[in-house]
Amino acid sequence: MNVDQIKKILVVGAGTMGHGIAEIAALSGYEVYLSDIAQDILNNALDKIRWSLSKFQEKGQLKESVETIMSRIKTVVGLTDAVKDADFAIEAAVERLDIKKQIFQNLDKLLKPEAILATNTSSLPITPIAEATKRPDKVVGMHFYNPPALMPLVEVMKGEKTSDETAKITYELAKRFGKQPIMINKDVPGYIVNRILFAITNASCIVVENKIADFREVDAVAKYKLGFPMGVFELADYTGIDVAYYINKGWEELGIKTLKCGIIEEKFKANELGVKTGKGFYTYPAPGKYVKPDLPKELAEKLDPSLIIAGAVNEATKLLREGVASKEDIELGVKLGLGFPKGIFQYADELGIDNIVNALAQLRKLSNNDFYDVDPLLQQMVSSNKLGVKTGEGFYTYGKTEEKTYRTVKVRIEPPLAWVILNRPEKLNALSPELVEDINKALDELETDQRIRVVILTGSGRAFSAGADISSFLTLRPIDVIRIRTIRDLTNKIALYTKPVIAAINGYALGGGLEIAMACDIRIASEMAQLGQPEINLGIIPGAGGTQRLPRLVGKGRAKLLIYTGDMISAKEAYEMGLVDMVVPPQRLEDEVRRVALKIAEKSPLALLAAKLAVELGNESNIWSGMLIEGSLFGLLFTTKDAEEGIRAFLEKRKPQFKGE
Ligand code: NAD
Repeated sequence: MNVDQIKKILVVGAGTMGHGIAEIAALSGYEVYLSDIAQDILNNALDKIRWSLSKFQEKGQLKESVETIMSRIKTVVGLTDAVKDADFAIEAAVERLDIKKQIFQNLDKLLKPEAILATNTSSLPITPIAEATKRPDKVVGMHFYNPPALMPLVEVMKGEKTSDETAKITYELAKRFGKQPIMINKDVPGYIVNRILFAITNASCIVVENKIADFREVDAVAKYKLGFPMGVFELADYTGIDVAYYINKGWEELGIKTLKCGIIEEKFKANELGVKTGKGFYTYPAPGKYVKPDLPKELAEKLDPSLIIAGAVNEATKLLREGVASKEDIELGVKLGLGFPKGIFQYADELGIDNIVNALAQLRKLSNNDFYDVDPLLQQMVSSNKLGVKTGEGFYTYGKTEEKTYRTVKVRIEPPLAWVILNRPEKLNALSPELVEDINKALDELETDQRIRVVILTGSGRAFSAGADISSFLTLRPIDVIRIRTIRDLTNKIALYTKPVIAAINGYALGGGLEIAMACDIRIASEMAQLGQPEINLGIIPGAGGTQRLPRLVGKGRAKLLIYTGDMISAKEAYEMGLVDMVVPPQRLEDEVRRVALKIAEKSPLALLAAKLAVELGNESNIWSGMLIEGSLFGLLFTTKDAEEGIRAFLEKRKPQFKGE
């Protein structure tokens, strides 16, 4: 059989999923039998399909009338001879192995020998379902997402005996349905996406149960650091605590390794099932009424995101290594099925494979679960220094990392990022004329380097920069000082640099050091950082923009307080007054800065420059001139290829590839 021979589709079960699957099959031009155990269930399903189609019609997305499409669906109570000419059956009945086996036995007897029998099970293995038939080679997993009419992903999964031909036809049929299928070559209950989600949920449970963070902190990290559309526990509430509970219970009964979670079991036993009961991890205004939990961004600062995702990376790596699915399909599954902004291997590369492995060791110790034993492939990657973005190679290859050394500056080129590292650690990176000259040189070279999208300024050793080199001050006359405007010029260069510049404030940022950091677009500080404008202690004032940029960031009063007293403040205080934009533990500074920088580096360089200029120039003019600058740049961007690409990618539901053109 080939996919062109499929004309009639039978959908068994007309509930949440079944009616949606019948809808897309009919929409795609197939004749559909929709079967359930009672006519009222089927009538209800038809009403829902009609309603959904009318929504598509309102949006102008239907090529045919609602009634034409509806006329292709015939309802059937039970499984009778009426359905026997179906070419392809999709079962979407309740998630119970005994019921599914019974249905497949009946389908096997009723349908012609060449018909393919697919199950939409979420968590059960395909093989025992196939064994209920005399055609196990024609039984396959075909996993849609809720709601099928809108969700693009379909996971196609083979049982032990499923033939390549069956899997291929099912894959092609999913495409005919307008879906994006992924292929899973072995029978792994839960497919790819749910296994990955379970691994994330389980690691999150371990974190909460061991009081490393509370569930809101986990959710804040998931949302703000990892960019998930929902927090881990928010999602558990949303889909229903009972769903996760029963899947694990089902697996336990089938002897499949479970990923149980104590706090989910507790919630289940207390009948706090999430949105549906009005209370789960969060409390909702009424049963069935979902509102987004209020999660302040600060909550995301405590927990290392690697801990949340390491188990999922381990699982995905195992699936990849064992040939269960391709890297591309795993990534696509995660993005389309879970709405993650990037694939699981991309996360791993960005967070650092070494960090993932360390997180796995921690999870293994806390849980005593061998699920967290580091996959050999990850181990091998660490020993061959394939640590991801930072070493230029991980699951993906990145532009090769190069180092360039100037007298007092090291530049690490890690496309699309470049790190400009002030390198006079023994002098706390005090701003000698050579150092300022070297930073200038490095910035000039990076500005024209096409590979580089974002520049990061940081210091080696204990300081970002402790300020100007005071040893030369005594011999200077006032006129010399006015003429030496090198640091001031450098801050202005950074403020109007054509690429985003991030200050990674690793330690002291004092005087000229802070003035350089303040000229950067974004400041991310280590918890250890100390910031201040101590010039007043020498009988002078800041001379490279400190009296100008500081009040603009923190307000006049606080700026004067800092400048008049010359006091140093902690990173936390600096964050609270708006002087730095993020504070992270010292050991995570590099990875966090990289994460933010990579996110920015994906955007259009032209749009970033326009945004920078509009903010910088607009901020220094009145609102009317500022609006005009913004308006002109806004208009100008519409002439760029990047804007065309961005809009097209949005409409085609793919990630844009900006070239800066
Ligand atoms: P549901 O409870 O909404 O619908 C199940 C339907 O099957 C009911 O209408 C029921 O009357 C019918 N049914 C029960 N026994 C039957 C039988 N012997 N013959 C015919 N019909 C029978 O459940 P659902 O959420 O639509 O889930 C259906 C399947 O899809 C399950 O295997 C589930 O794991 C899977 N799934 C669900 C989702 C989801 O988000 N709900 C997503 C993907 C897959």
